[in-house]
Amino acid sequence: PTANGCPPDVEELGRSTWTFLHSLTAAYPTQASTEQQTEMRSFLKLFSRLYPCWVCADDFRTWMAEPSGRNEPRLASRADFGTWMCEAHNEVNRKLGKKEFDCRFWEERWRTGWKDGRCD
Ligand code: FAD
Repeated sequence: PTANGCPPDVEELGRSTWTFLHSLTAAYPTQASTEQQTEMRSFLKLFSRLYPCWVCADDFRTWMAEPSGRNEPRLASRADFGTWMCEAHNEVNRKLGKKEFDCRFWEERWRTGWKDGRCD
């Protein structure tokens, strides 16, 4: 990890950004209005162009735009969006040879805390 007070490297930037992105899904409405979905779709599109690790951004954008449409953001509800973000993160995990996360637990990790009370 980067020492305190130094500019972030790709890993530190990534950890902070995933915290932000998963927190965004945790705060998303249980059922989103059309406007809320449109706003989030715009955000993700811009994010995928502006994220300041260019190879990361390029790959993320390519993954989202996969021609079958299966990786398009799913924004109807918090459950959909949270699971989609978890899948996006797993795609990067696979690319980097990291362990995949079991997406059934995304909400315990990022919203409610673990049922065993370890976050209390
Ligand atoms: P991170 O992957 O940062 O994860 C942080 C925490 O999130 C984990 O400790 C775990 O508790 C939790 N978590 C892990 N997986 C999931 C999941 N699927 N769903 C929910 N929670 C999860 N780095 C590169 O070197 N090359 C790249 O191309 C690249 N692309 C990136 C694209 C994006 C959009 C982002 C945000 C980051 C990218 N990164 C990339 C950074 C990389 O993903 C990691 O953030 C970095 O390597 C640090 O990894 P880490 O092991 O600390 O955990």
